[in-house]
Amino acid sequence: MNLSSLGFFRNLRKDNQQFGVIGLGRFGRGVCATLYRQGYQVMGTDIDEKRVAQALSDQIISHAVQLDSTELSALKEAGIFECDTVIVAIGNYLQESIITTLNVKEAGVPYVVAKASSEVHGKLLQRVGADHIVYPEYEAGCALARSITKPSILDRFDLDSNHSIVEVLVPEEFHGKTVMELQLRTRYGLNVLALGQNEQFEINPDPTTRLAKGSRMVVIGSTRDLERMPM
Ligand code: ATP
Repeated sequence: MNLSSLGFFRNLRKDNQQFGVIGLGRFGRGVCATLYRQGYQVMGTDIDEKRVAQALSDQIISHAVQLDSTELSALKEAGIFECDTVIVAIGNYLQESIITTLNVKEAGVPYVVAKASSEVHGKLLQRVGADHIVYPEYEAGCALARSITKPSILDRFDLDSNHSIVEVLVPEEFHGKTVMELQLRTRYGLNVLALGQNEQFEINPDPTTRLAKGSRMVVIGSTRDLERMPM
């Protein structure tokens, strides 16, 4: 799992054991596979029988049911309302997405995450009670733009609108210098959380470690300070 995916998964309640995913398109399948790999119980549903069968044969869910999620009784019968968290992964069918979100919220599911395909869609989902709304296409577009303009940023996790944790390639200017010599905290307002070489990371690195161009470093700081760092 990379840093960026934390933005979505941190919003799923930590004490959850049982997740429901409605809609098994690319997004829904990605959610199922990631949760299931981590050992959670995941119930997946889709109106399309083929998608249900595919998810089962790919072994990305614990149980799968073919149903129309706009039908309250079908959701109830499948046991979706017993889930601690339900992810409504229907983006392109506005009406179905809204009715489904309304159904699961009204039935008392404590935490409902819904995928929106536009700002208006997001507002409607909020109105019907979604606890968290994601805009995967928009977020992927932002990430792409950042990766094109700052290719040395390998990964990024936005803590809020002003602070981030980023994984970057050590820039040329830092090569052969130690964290202490660079005075990253006083000069750039940044704290180094980890240094990485190959697949290994040293957490809370010794400030006398010499940095090597092309190796990786994970830093935390304000967006503005991160922008000032040479990359
Ligand atoms: P993605 O954008 O995630 O790749 P997609 O393009 O298929 O997937 P959508 O059109 O939003 O995205 O549909 C997601 C899934 O939701 C589809 O598999 C679709 O069959 C399913 N779906 C649509 N309507 C319903 C419904 N009423 N009940 C259950 N599943 C539904």
